[in-house]
Amino acid sequence: MEKLRNSNVMYLRGIGPRRAELLDKQLGIRSYRDLLYHFPTRYVDRSMMYRVADFDGDMPMVQVRGRFITMNEQGDGAKRRLVGLFTDGTQMMEVVWFRRIKQIREAYHLDTEYVLFGKPEVFNNRWSMVHPEIDTPQSLTAAQGLRGVYSLTEKLTAQGIGTRQLFGWVQNVLAATPVIRETLPQSIIARLRLPGLREALADIHNPASNERLQAARLRLKFEELFYLQLDILRYSRRRNASIGGFRFSRVGDYFNRFYFEQLPFPLTGAQKRVIKEIRADMGSGRQMNRLLQGDVGSGKTLVALLTMLIALDNGYQACLMAPTEILATQHYATLSELVAPLGVNVRLLTGSTRKKERDVIHEQLLDGSLHILVGTHAVIEDNVCFRNLGFVVIDEQHRFGVAQRARLWGKNSCVPHVLVMTATPIPRTLAMTVYGDLSVSVIDELPPGRKPVTTLLRYEENREQVYRSVGRELAAGRQVYVVYPLIQENEKLDLQCLEEGYERICETFPSYKSSFVHGRMKPAAKEYQMSQFASGEARILVATTVIEVGVNVPNASVMIIENAERFGLSQLHQLRGRVGRGAAQSFCILMSKRKISGDTRKRLEVMTSTTDGFVIAEADMKMRGPGDIEGTMQSGLAFDLKIADLARDGQIVELARREAEALLEADPTFSSPDNAVIAKELSANTSRKVDWSRIS
Ligand code: ADP
Ligand code: MG
Repeated sequence: MEKLRNSNVMYLRGIGPRRAELLDKQLGIRSYRDLLYHFPTRYVDRSMMYRVADFDGDMPMVQVRGRFITMNEQGDGAKRRLVGLFTDGTQMMEVVWFRRIKQIREAYHLDTEYVLFGKPEVFNNRWSMVHPEIDTPQSLTAAQGLRGVYSLTEKLTAQGIGTRQLFGWVQNVLAATPVIRETLPQSIIARLRLPGLREALADIHNPASNERLQAARLRLKFEELFYLQLDILRYSRRRNASIGGFRFSRVGDYFNRFYFEQLPFPLTGAQKRVIKEIRADMGSGRQMNRLLQGDVGSGKTLVALLTMLIALDNGYQACLMAPTEILATQHYATLSELVAPLGVNVRLLTGSTRKKERDVIHEQLLDGSLHILVGTHAVIEDNVCFRNLGFVVIDEQHRFGVAQRARLWGKNSCVPHVLVMTATPIPRTLAMTVYGDLSVSVIDELPPGRKPVTTLLRYEENREQVYRSVGRELAAGRQVYVVYPLIQENEKLDLQCLEEGYERICETFPSYKSSFVHGRMKPAAKEYQMSQFASGEARILVATTVIEVGVNVPNASVMIIENAERFGLSQLHQLRGRVGRGAAQSFCILMSKRKISGDTRKRLEVMTSTTDGFVIAEADMKMRGPGDIEGTMQSGLAFDLKIADLARDGQIVELARREAEALLEADPTFSSPDNAVIAKELSANTSRKVDWSRIS
């Protein structure tokens, strides 16, 4: 492996300094190893020769064998191109080049046999190929079976670096490195029947068969996930051994008085269990890092409050951070009302907190008289200093970035306990990887008396009928949400839609008051509109997704989602979670265009067929793939997976986890000769290092 890592591709035959620089800039390829690990994105079967006469409408990349009859330059200026007439004996086709005309003319000759590889397209009633790859039949022998096709950038193709060049260079690297050091212990390779590393690397670019390709992929994916799990497990072991945490040894007055005198309703069994788990963690002397998953409406806020009271009982301050101003404000209102009889000092800090209040907060945080600080990310600004922050609760964590969470840690000499609460269930394999070192608690029970929300899919022509049912709910005293999408690229149009929607609602239901909220409004205006709805003064709330997370108005029984086809699954689930919080039967109405893609229809069907957040999360992950999820979970992957796919390779994730656990159990220092490769690989592969300490 050393040779692979240390050899610069610049010295590889056919590359040289100029192309090396391009490869580095465009694809981050510097060493032999980088080149070998630039895996194909798909494969073409180069064993199959097509006939031009058999080409049809929708062909993939194909290869044909034949000769050029003519080759002429046509057009001028920007339109200049080289056109060759090519025949394979069955039919004529055109081959067109727009760039590198001079080189092409010099390189290829008439009446010589070539194998062309490209995508056939019809142009001027004739088959044509633009910039195909060209081989002589002799040079083809190196590339039989399936051949890798690579993702490339436009810059590279413009410089004449295509799949074929890359493929050739990979073959050169393989020829130059007949031995590649194995990176997995033999025991694992034998037990799981994996191909060796060199074989897998050769096969991933040029497999003799589909079976060989699958074996190579399994081996490389497993290796990637195995080392990832090793990293995660080693990190959490180290942390458990070295980082102490505050020991909250007692449950005192605050907790007990609240629990026995103020609790508004009995806790559900799941809430009790989760509080016990958290308490045990906080009393262990180790720093707690716990993820609390609970579907929307499962009562996470109360768990947060009760556990914050334990922190207070032990003489520490607590902080609750929420992703939006609306949500922080609402938490503040709920909490301060609940704890008012206990004499707990709770304050709210957001971007729009006035300077005067801000000063008071800063002062009280420092002298310790402020017990619970609720806020948005304003609470982690540098000038916010606690006297003794012991416990941090982060609500709806997927909105916060990793770096933001890490900053909270720096607020104290000793790291506070951290509870991350989320209503977006994270599929197991993803949790295992992204939050590999977190403990997980699950509230798997809703408060009693809740009826599952009925979800319906409706179209524009059903609107009147939808409004009639809304009218009935309003007449029965209930409240209604109407939500519109708002995305940046489309902001003007979306806002217009939202405003029109609001007007239509006002016209249709003139005897009820409606609120109107979107993210671009001033905080004070937003707050006013929200409070109107929360108090029941306004019966309808027309809004964008600012209300997506956390808002709690139990009297609301209808959620209308306009342009539902434009929302993702987890968003739809979140939105639906705003209703069904009281005892009344609630409805979620997905308003959609009639014409939607198959995927979109599937999404909406998942929504109408289940209310189980875990089922929805799994479906979401399968449909979207991890790239997307990476985007959504900003906190997400702090590492780069080259071949494994967390959404689709769940089984391999679990396999890798089991193997890594077993290995660490048996040989934590990798001292057996068979495991020496692991120690070597870990120290060599610095790019694999993830700063797990930044993931709270
Ligand atoms: P989420 O988990 O989505 O944050 P909330 O904490 O907002 O849920 O709780 C949803 C609603 O359920 C709130 O109105 C809350 O007061 C109520 N609730 C919480 N726990 C219970 C319980 N044990 N019994 C009855 N209602 C509860
Ligand atoms: Mg909540």
